[in-house]
Amino acid sequence: MSLWLTGIGVSRGIAIARVQKLHGGDPEAVEYTVEPEALDEEVERFEQAQQQALIELREIRDRIPVGTPGDIAAFIDTHLLMMDDRSLTDATVSTIRNQGCNAEAALRHSRDALMAVFEQMEDPYLRTRQNDIEHVVSRVLRVLAKAERRLPGDDGTPAEPAIIVADDITPADIILLSQQSVQAFVTEYGGPLSHTAILARSLGIPAVVGLHNARKLLREGEPVIVDGENGHVLADPDDKALAHYRQRQAQLAQDRQVLQLLRDKPAISRDGVAVHLQANIELPEDASVAESNGAAGVGLYRTEFLYMNRKDLPTEEEQYAAYARVVGAVKGPITIRTLDLGADKQVDSGQRHGPTPNNPALGLRAIRLCLKEPDLFRLQVRALLRASAHGQVRIMLPMISSITELRQARQIVAVCREELNREGCAMAEHIPVGIMIEVPAAAIAAPLLAREADFFSIGTNDLIQYTLAIDRVDDEVNYLYDPLHPAVLRLIRMTIEAGHRAGIEVAMCGEMAGDVRYTRLLLGLGLTEFSMHPTSVLEVKRAVRDARVGELKALVEQVLQAEDQESFERALAQLQQT
Ligand code: PEP
Ligand code: MG
Repeated sequence: MSLWLTGIGVSRGIAIARVQKLHGGDPEAVEYTVEPEALDEEVERFEQAQQQALIELREIRDRIPVGTPGDIAAFIDTHLLMMDDRSLTDATVSTIRNQGCNAEAALRHSRDALMAVFEQMEDPYLRTRQNDIEHVVSRVLRVLAKAERRLPGDDGTPAEPAIIVADDITPADIILLSQQSVQAFVTEYGGPLSHTAILARSLGIPAVVGLHNARKLLREGEPVIVDGENGHVLADPDDKALAHYRQRQAQLAQDRQVLQLLRDKPAISRDGVAVHLQANIELPEDASVAESNGAAGVGLYRTEFLYMNRKDLPTEEEQYAAYARVVGAVKGPITIRTLDLGADKQVDSGQRHGPTPNNPALGLRAIRLCLKEPDLFRLQVRALLRASAHGQVRIMLPMISSITELRQARQIVAVCREELNREGCAMAEHIPVGIMIEVPAAAIAAPLLAREADFFSIGTNDLIQYTLAIDRVDDEVNYLYDPLHPAVLRLIRMTIEAGHRAGIEVAMCGEMAGDVRYTRLLLGLGLTEFSMHPTSVLEVKRAVRDARVGELKALVEQVLQAEDQESFERALAQLQQT
């Protein structure tokens, strides 16, 4: 008999295959006392297992296919750092020695202590890192127990297409599985921002997370259908359901092919408005992914990834090499954002200054940190200016909230330019310096800022967070995160109008720009520069090519003027239909 289950759909697509369960992350708990004369040997057993786990994880890191989005490698790098971290290894060794217990018991003890520390953290993002600690410790425990989690295809036989059902899946296992014939992931834990969700989306594999008791309810080897958009899992489907979902699967595949035909077509609306669709990237390697998805340049290169998952700071030379590589690989303009560390983008503790603030999102973040630590900023600015010799570089400053900050930052750019000129370094003659509009104050003061900024780019992820006073990484208030809130829409409109009145370009690089549900609305608001995850470019391009911007402008006005929820929804529906 068929069984319908519902979790959270986090990666779109339909998969039909048989269940393959991944059994528990942790092998059986074994605890025993170690005699004093055998303690050295036990410590050695632990250290060897930890080294072996590091070797395995590095091998997985090296097997990441070229073109895989940068966040995947970043997850593995974080795990490598954690596995090698002294707070885990030293504590385990001293527990073995002081309590005379075996390596497994000592390692679990260190894990529980570390997790308790993370549990106390105010910052919800850091609290979610407990999950990473569990993954890392499980890997070492599995080596100790010589019980490697068996993955499809591990024994060398070609893997059957399968739907993986697990409690949770580590980023490393996702990479291994994505190279096998895995059709979809179903996990008991996790939410839309969990690693499984982010990685599955990046890899284009359908996924449903947060489906409690999935391992109990689904039987090994039984056929299931996974609908990654709606979060449905249908076990043992009947012929009617199979026919329905096979048809939807075929439609989606056809749709993907149709979208590919748009790759080299221009993004021009039916009434002749030309739109620029660019990509957001995070690692130099992402540049090729952007191009293969038909993006016309890069509208946001997030540079903080160069600073994360390491204990030291990147040197000017290292940064220059990375930027020059990306700039050389991107056809068209590339907007490089200066360091946006702090809040949801923490660096390794070795680089952090002072105690963790109470409200990191409102703290010393992004341009504030750079202006407080000008030496850190100067290194990056010099590297960016030097990279401008290789292409069309634009510099973008994050989290600007006042004209003073913009002037101070521009002053540093000017001084670095003079220095490099004296040193005889090649640079582009004109390097636009623009700002992100992601703080309500900047949107409200946009007419003033537009006089001194060369361009604007609206960061809706933060603009929504700060306007609606909801922490973007706090699951408890996620339900309030609303890109369509009238306050948000008004701030977006004010920014676009102020920029255009001053004759500067206005782009949008927050998630909203890549969400096809908002394309018509944004076009109607007058936006013509969009930057997004590369995989969204073609879908947004189709929406642009189907739209008549002139008509949308009038309809958007009705959306903005709506006085209650009912008329708002009516106006919005009309905007989507025409
Ligand atoms: C934004 O805030 O919308 C943005 C693009 O920047 P980030 O998500 O990196 O903060
Ligand atoms: Mg931001």
